[in-house]
Amino acid sequence: MAPGGGAGRGWTAAARRVIDATGVDIDWEIHDAGLGVMEEYGDPLPAHVLDSIRRNKVAIKGPLTTPVGKGIRSVNVALRRELDLYALVRPCKSYPGVRSRYEDVDLVIVRENTEDLYAGIEFAEGEAQTLELIADIEKLGGRRIRDDSGISIKPISIFGTQRVFRFAFQWAIDNGRHKVTAVHKANIMKHTDGLWLRVAQEVSKEFPQIEFEDRIVDNMAMQLVQKPELYDVMVMPNLYGDILSDLCAGLTGGLGLAPGANTGATVAVFEATHGSAPKYAGQNKANPMAMMLSGVLMLRHIGEGNAGDRLEQAIARVIADGRNVTYDMKPDRDDPTAVGTSQVADAVIEALGNSA
Ligand code: NAD
Repeated sequence: MAPGGGAGRGWTAAARRVIDATGVDIDWEIHDAGLGVMEEYGDPLPAHVLDSIRRNKVAIKGPLTTPVGKGIRSVNVALRRELDLYALVRPCKSYPGVRSRYEDVDLVIVRENTEDLYAGIEFAEGEAQTLELIADIEKLGGRRIRDDSGISIKPISIFGTQRVFRFAFQWAIDNGRHKVTAVHKANIMKHTDGLWLRVAQEVSKEFPQIEFEDRIVDNMAMQLVQKPELYDVMVMPNLYGDILSDLCAGLTGGLGLAPGANTGATVAVFEATHGSAPKYAGQNKANPMAMMLSGVLMLRHIGEGNAGDRLEQAIARVIADGRNVTYDMKPDRDDPTAVGTSQVADAVIEALGNSA
């Protein structure tokens, strides 16, 4: 477990308590990562943290803070790349009692996690290399890019696309799903999203038992808002997956309820969709349920499906009851009856006890 920054420590502590309360005997190895360990280890993602995750093959982490635009690379992105966690699974499900404009939403986003504009190949405005690249692109027959441009490269490979679609189809089969939708902008980006769509169509033939279709990403955004019930498992390149994950979280009650699983060939790292909510750091205020639901995914992943189901049902009961929830789940955000992070864990543990 990597406790995370901002409000993350409270969430991971709460998640650990409810996971332990399921009775599954987990020998936790706790390691900090992120800006807080820079001074001690000279690296926000120290080697011993990566070694621990590689050795244990499973981790759950709180969100880590990345300062905007200060040249500091995201540790979250680095972690996914270092461990080659190529598929990020983000279920978005309605729970009765959640304040939302929608009911009965049950969607899953599978986001490609290593390529696309998030591959980290970027050239800063004004640097010699960037000007060289601009000149090379023009020489290679590309259009002239303005000299005062910054450049981010968008690689999408056959290898990366094949493996994420194979993963998604298999995930759909294993989890009783019936349809996979490939999301893209192939009409505009023919050599990246076009490749993505072509490979998706090829891979879909390996899984005839699962229905397959594709949607252009802007249309997908509108359709999700108008008729989310038409969709099931949606597979998207990194950037669209990042944006539409938050959209889908919004359909089902907000970021406080959206869990995630970063999965690679041998390692899986579970984390909430939301960030570290720095304004709530140390306040015992923000919602730990996304972190707890990430724990549900982790329990299922390690073969403790029964404990995972019981924990999900306990969380659902606390939501439906509506008393022991954080401010973001109350009809009025200033509701004085809203409870804190650790009280939500207490309520979930009590609900778990009642289900035993
Ligand atoms: P954020 O998700 O932290 O916050 C967005 C909004 O949602 C804020 O108003 C926040 O207070 C609220 N919020 C988030 N989680 C909540 C919860 N559990 N309960 C109640 N309210 C919640 O996004 P941001 O503000 O864009 O980013 C903050 C920091 O988190 C940044 O440094 C960013 O880089 C980092 N981040 C990390 C991850 C990760 O670790 N995977 C993901 C996203 C953002």
